[in-house]
This record gives sequence, structure tokens and C-alpha cells, in this order.
Amino acid sequence: MTSPGIEEVIAAKRDGHAHSREQLDRLVLGFVSGEVPDYQMSAWLMAALLNGLTMAETVLLTDAMVRSGEVIDLTGVPGRTVDKHSTGGVADTTTLVVAPLVAACGVPVAKMSGRGLGHTGGTLDKLESIPGFVVDLSPERFAEQVRDVGVAVISQSQSVDPADKLMYALRDVTATVPSIPLIVSSIISKKVAGGADAILLDVKAGSGAFMKTVAQAEELARALSFVGRELGRDVECVVTSMDQPLGTAVGNALEVEEAIATLWGRGPADLTALCTEFAARMVVLGEGASDTAAARERVSTALTSGAAAEKFREWIAAQGGDARVVDDPGLLPRCAHTRPVPAQASGWVAGFDAEGVGRAAMLAGAGRVRAGDPVDPGAGLSGCVRVGQRGEVGDELCRIHVSDPDLFDVVEERFRRAVRIGPEPSPPGPLFQEASA
Ligand code: URA
Ligand code: CA
Repeated sequence: MTSPGIEEVIAAKRDGHAHSREQLDRLVLGFVSGEVPDYQMSAWLMAALLNGLTMAETVLLTDAMVRSGEVIDLTGVPGRTVDKHSTGGVADTTTLVVAPLVAACGVPVAKMSGRGLGHTGGTLDKLESIPGFVVDLSPERFAEQVRDVGVAVISQSQSVDPADKLMYALRDVTATVPSIPLIVSSIISKKVAGGADAILLDVKAGSGAFMKTVAQAEELARALSFVGRELGRDVECVVTSMDQPLGTAVGNALEVEEAIATLWGRGPADLTALCTEFAARMVVLGEGASDTAAARERVSTALTSGAAAEKFREWIAAQGGDARVVDDPGLLPRCAHTRPVPAQASGWVAGFDAEGVGRAAMLAGAGRVRAGDPVDPGAGLSGCVRVGQRGEVGDELCRIHVSDPDLFDVVEERFRRAVRIGPEPSPPGPLFQEASA
């Protein structure tokens, strides 16, 4: 069965015409109700990818997607609630650090998150590696916890933005993911429906990201900010480098352990710098400080005073997890087998294929090949070398963690292909590519 008039909507985009609000509503709401079949939506997605959408159309599309489901009501939370989203990277541990850090500064954090797929890890999988931690809370419980504890991170609710869930599944199999208007409407519709007043968006650029160049990432950042603001949300974007995995751990429990170290002020320099800066910007967005300098001061105090670690304990306990992990990371799940990857040549770490490192961790069991596959919470890589570091033959490039020792060789081979060792020193590029959009 096809929906009357949808052929004309598809033909309009095929011929490069702009859509009206009525046309986009008919397409999106009809698709969610089942009146518009997958094949018609697929044809429209490809026409939109090839011919583009104007900013005005992108705003209308995003708004229709928001109205396809429930919008979370956070009006009962005092103050301004903030959310954070990253466009996807490798070993992106920042949410685990930033959420309790910002909450410890008195700004409520409300985030709906996704699971990992392919080389990108998911925040939910990381949180679920904490024994007992539950991510499937109802929208009502979510709002209550944001109000009472100051922070909640839960799985994307089925009733929120169903259009994105269905459209993304089609884009994934019709080669229509890499379109800026489609990416913008996907991200912003989820964030608007998630209910927070303000959103910090971390747009990744580099080998491990959707956007391979800084120029592409900046274009995406401008569009995200524009559409978010048109839909009444305060949006700030930062463009950051994803040319090497963030921090030194890649894997679920391994990254939780690194996040805990960072909350105690003992984290890797790049992860600490990024988290501190994100937290400061979120504190400003949430009106917890008048300017970024004052916010940085608050954030730094929350780290050194132990307030951020205490907020992490409270948050874990509120979602049913074992809060003792904050003081004793040895309680996190670990794999029975570890093996170092020794350097075969002396030299400087010149660069990474960050996606390849993510794939190596996935092969160890940390990620999933297909949606719905289980993950091994203890699996992954720890102690990864950083760009610019000098090493001698035999030095450890990283340590592999697996439950099945038969996996060692394939993980090692994939990791070795993803790291470049050169004869000259090569300092890492800047973490922040650009101030903001
Ligand atoms: N992240 C999303 O949520 N949607 C996209 O389309 C791309 C990245
Ligand atoms: Ca993330």
C-alpha cells in the first residue's frame, strides 16, 4: 500500500524543489504510522541525500521528527538542564566524566544515549559494565532522577523520536547516512525530544569520525547549531579531533576505570583536558557560572575536592549500580586473559587509524558487529601509546584483554595495522579544532 501524494513529495525532491511543512509532515508522520512504506521513504532519503535540503527544510524535517513521538517533560527540574552529545568517536569516555562533574557544579544533566555499533563504543554499554547498573528507565523515572540526583543517563526511549529510529535503520542499509541535513535532523530531533534546555555538541573530525576533515565538521557544527536554536534549544558546538582514541583505554569496564581515575584527578592528559573544557561550557550553558573562566574554576574545584567522584557514586547508586567501584575499580568485570603488544621497531608514534583501533577492541569483544549482539564488559585495550610518544623495540604499545585467548592474534594484527611508528618525532595535533559555532 502506498500513501496518496507521497509520490509527488518524492518527485519534488528528485527534481530539486523545496518541501513545504505539510509535505514533510505527511512523509515523516505517515512513515511512522506505517502508511508510507520503507521503499518510498528509501527513495526520498536518496533524493534528499543527492539534492540536499535547505536549512529551512531541515528545521521542518527535524520538527516533524520531534512530533513523531513523546517529548520528555523536564519542567519539574529546577534550573536549566543540559545534555551533551558526541557525533561518535572511538573510546569516547567523556560522558562518564562530564555528567557527574557538571552535576557536582549544581547544573542538572539529562541524557538519552545509544549503544555501540561497529567501531564506536556506546556510553550505555560502558555504564552497564558497572555491576547492577540499569539504563532502561521510564521517562518519568528519568525526570525524577534528574531532579533528585542532578544526573541521569538512560537508553533512548522507544516512545521518543520513533521517526529517527526507523529512518536511521533505513539509512544504514540504503547508503544514505552521510548527508549533513539527515545527520542534523537525526541528532537534533533526539536532543529536542530528550527535553534538556541546552545542549553541548561535540562534533568529531578525523580518521575515527563521520566527518574526516575539520572543514566538513565545521559545516556540520554550523547546521546543528542553527537547527537546534530554531527549535528553541540553546546549542553550542565544539569541533574536536578524533585522530587517535581518547585516553588510553578502549573497552567498556576499562573505560569506566579510566573515567574514575579522571574524576580523581589521575586521568590521561587529553581526556582530562577535554572533559574539563566540556564541563565548563556545560556549566555556562546551564547558568551555573557567569562566564567560562568562572566555570573552569568551579569544575576544577569539583575535581580536586572529590565532589565529582561523590556525585558519580550517587548517580551509580540511583541507577542500581555498585557505587563501590568509584573507590575500588577492582570490582569492575575483568577478562581472564591479557597480553601485551610489543613494538617491533623503535621510533615515535606518528599516528593512528582511530577506526582501526576501535575495530581491534571490537574484535576483542568490546563492541558488536550486529545490533543486539552481546558485548564482553571486560574486553578491550588498555595502556595504548599516544601520538608523539617514543618507544624502543619490545616496549608495550597496548595490552589486550580477552575472555578467549584464541582472540589474541586477530586483535593484535588489527591493532598493529592501526598504529604508525615513524623515525621522526611527530607531536599530536590540537584536540580542539575550533572555538565553536
Ligand atoms: N548520529 C546520529 O544520531 N544520527 C546520524 O545520522 C549520525 C550520527
Ligand atoms: Ca559518546
